[in-house]
Amino acid sequence: MSVSGLPPYDDANIFARILRGEIPCTKVAESEHALAFRDINPQAPVHVLVIPKGRYVSAADFCATAPEAQVAGFWRLVAEVAKAEGLEARGYRLLTNMGDEGGQEVPHFHVHIFGGRRLGRMVPQM
Ligand code: 5GP
Repeated sequence: MSVSGLPPYDDANIFARILRGEIPCTKVAESEHALAFRDINPQAPVHVLVIPKGRYVSAADFCATAPEAQVAGFWRLVAEVAKAEGLEARGYRLLTNMGDEGGQEVPHFHVHIFGGRRLGRMVPQM
């Protein structure tokens, strides 16, 4: 753990490798701040992942340490992708898993965009 309580960034994580071009992805959009690509195991008709370009472990890390222009640029790309995928009028869901109890599997901050069907409850009932 780092001083902040967050784990250090792992340069071998799968999204770091995608950003470096070592592993292919189905790219949807890209800006100077972020990359959007289709999830390899889609949970909805539209399931896109948006990741910032940079070494950010999680939402907490990104929000605390990324330059403001990158935070803004990242979220703008999220909204632009949702619109380009035809989801703006019908609605969609944004989700980010953070840390152990949040169920985060890949330790590079990412937002999931889900859409294309009625998505139901936010989380399973307790
Ligand atoms: P998390 O649970 O960390 O929020 O979500 C990680 C997501 O990354 C999962 O939905 C999983 O299907 C996706 N994923 C894992 N490995 C790859 C990969 O190599 N390529 C792509 N496109 N998605 C991946």
